[in-house]
Amino acid sequence: MSSEERQSPIRVLIVDDDITSRYLAVEALALAGIEISEADHGAQALETLTAETLPDIVLLDVVMPIMDGFETCARIRALERVARLPVLMMTGLDDEESVNRAYEAGATDFVTKPVTPQLLLHKIRYMVRAGEATEQLVLSQHRLAAAQRIAQIGHWEWDLRSGRVHWSEQALAIMGATGGGDLHSLQTLLEKVPKDDRPRVASWFDMVEATREAAELNHQIIGATGEERYFRQLVEPHTDKAGKVVRLYGAVQDITALRLAEEHIHRLAYYDSLTGLPNRVFFLQQLEKTLRLIHRHKRRGALLFLDLDNFKRVNDTLGHNSGDMLLQAVAERLVTSVRASDVIVRRELAEDRHNVARLGGDEFTVLLAEIRSDQDAARVARRIIESLAKPFKLQGNDVVVTPSIGITVFPQDGEHSSDLLRNGDMAMYHAKRAGKNTYKFFDASLNATAMQRLKTETALRAAIDNDELRLHFQPQFDVLSGGMCGVEALLRWTHPELGEVPPEEFIPIAEETGLILPIGEWVIEQACRQLRQWRAENVPVARVAVNVSASQFNSGDLPELIAGILARYGIEPGWLELELTETILMTQAEESVKMLQKLKDIGLQLAIDDFGTGYSSLSYLKRFPIDRLKIDRSFIANIENDRDNAAIAQAVIAMAETMSLHVTAEGVENDRQLSLLREQRCGEVQGYLLGRPTPPEQICHMLEALHTATVTTAPASPPSDRAPRRRGTGGY
Ligand code: C2E
Ligand code: CA
Ligand code: CA
Repeated sequence: MSSEERQSPIRVLIVDDDITSRYLAVEALALAGIEISEADHGAQALETLTAETLPDIVLLDVVMPIMDGFETCARIRALERVARLPVLMMTGLDDEESVNRAYEAGATDFVTKPVTPQLLLHKIRYMVRAGEATEQLVLSQHRLAAAQRIAQIGHWEWDLRSGRVHWSEQALAIMGATGGGDLHSLQTLLEKVPKDDRPRVASWFDMVEATREAAELNHQIIGATGEERYFRQLVEPHTDKAGKVVRLYGAVQDITALRLAEEHIHRLAYYDSLTGLPNRVFFLQQLEKTLRLIHRHKRRGALLFLDLDNFKRVNDTLGHNSGDMLLQAVAERLVTSVRASDVIVRRELAEDRHNVARLGGDEFTVLLAEIRSDQDAARVARRIIESLAKPFKLQGNDVVVTPSIGITVFPQDGEHSSDLLRNGDMAMYHAKRAGKNTYKFFDASLNATAMQRLKTETALRAAIDNDELRLHFQPQFDVLSGGMCGVEALLRWTHPELGEVPPEEFIPIAEETGLILPIGEWVIEQACRQLRQWRAENVPVARVAVNVSASQFNSGDLPELIAGILARYGIEPGWLELELTETILMTQAEESVKMLQKLKDIGLQLAIDDFGTGYSSLSYLKRFPIDRLKIDRSFIANIENDRDNAAIAQAVIAMAETMSLHVTAEGVENDRQLSLLREQRCGEVQGYLLGRPTPPEQICHMLEALHTATVTTAPASPPSDRAPRRRGTGGY
């Protein structure tokens, strides 16, 4: 910057006890537009320099009373605000020693008196300009340091010829080095890098030198107090004219906080917060990785799928807190028992911290990345079962949970994670079917049906809540009068994806899983609700029959349950009929007698369903307080052609008659069957011929149609008094 460009004139402080030489200088400089202040001696000059406005340069005489020029200069340098102020020493002395002393005292330059005004002016201008440049440099250095401090970046230079590294203050601060003395070469840097990472860092520096290209490296450093810190190094090589790398310029940044934040985010995304185990996402990644390695190395691995058998009950009875604690404790035992197994062959394949994962709920997986035989996987499964067998202490309660474990071996059971997930799940399902607290290997032959069942089971669990269940009603008719004497409630399930699922398919599953209890309760309740509604609308449905399954019948509280529902809907017990199969009743016949009696005591109607398909003992049949036998539709199916079936039907009807029981023939599909049954004096019939199971609204229409028919046609034959019979409504 030249003086012409300056906003303000150059200010000069002249310190000289010789008035004449001062006067000459002032004369010459004032002409050039320079602003001048004066001091007689050093002490006065120092005083002037405490003023607010400072000179741009000091002209300092050497020989003065009170305080000479050397001392004055030294003192100026000691004052912080003027430490870098240009000082031009002037003296008549022209000896070497004075020149040296002047520079030692911190003089910027030196002239010998007398000075020509022209030379003085030049020197002043030059020195002021240089001083300003220095000031700018110092300022920008400060700025750079501040910026580096804020950005946590430090820089360094490595002279490859001397091997010395220069670290900026900020770089030293970042690296946690004290004073720089302990970080003077690459070797000293490497010593701070964790041992097993040193070769990588060292070869990275070699690489930069060899490729002569800028590069970036992240590495760790063990701090003075042993703490782990993370750094990012950015390096740029500088070459000499021959193209040889002579110097590396680098920047170092402390990214520890960034790394910790990343790790935190990673933990949130890849780990289950309850147990600290890898979550589903992480598990899938591990599985994919393992499958790639397995493929490359031609090895075998196994995947264990684990589901707790009775977790839901614990959760429901002890509360979610205990449930959570239980899952944590289970996770811990899983990790310990898997780690203790000696099947983990190779470290690079199985990071043992990561092979147990929680997929969600009470589902866990164990990934065995390399096994020698299937037995290795079985061993782990057995160990897990053993380790969970010991009760868990939860808020003072001893809780036992058992696992069902499915094992799928890869690559033989599948090479894709989706196959293995499905297979493992299926194997687990088999373990459950096999009585729980056990393990099962995946078996491809069971695949399709098991899968279908599993799907149905899962879907069925949600069926009530999702309002997917409906009751249809099939009418039952009095053979002689043709009137509708009752209806049988038949369950219908429409799943949004599976569609209409036939009762033969889902009812056995509901029974096996215990789901039949809530579903059966729902059926009884809906039947009563419908009956109530028909009554309210004056629809003359005399009786509703519901099917009761074995587990409902054996659950013990069926009488209370039904009594409660009847009371709630204001239903007379005699309007409700329970259908129980022969097999249900005969399995524990003695118990059945008691239970039937309880149900009878309430006043319910009781029927034996599918009669003829099981083996009823006549003596028990006599002791069962029942009202009706329903002849199984297999006997009715070709009663018109099959003499044996006709004989059986005839015998059942005769037997019922002697025991004063009603008889209903099921599955009547054609007129010939109907007339045969009429000849055999069968009391009631049910079948597609007379009415299929329909939604409740259809029953009203059916009854209306029947009513119209009855007023125009007479009954087929006069009412019989041989068997007790209910009065029907309308006729067919
Ligand atoms: P089920 O108790 O013997 O019910 C009679 C079955 O025969 C019904 O089948 C009905 O649609 C069918 N059927 C009626 N008339 C004819 C006919 O003329 N020909 C033929 N071929 N079949 C006829 P659905 O509704 O499929 O029910 C099948 C079984 O599912 C029932 O047999 C019953 O054991 C069970 N089920 C249905 N609903 C329930 C329920 O709410 N609870 C329980 N525990 N079981 C139920
Ligand atoms: Ca039935
Ligand atoms: Ca039946």
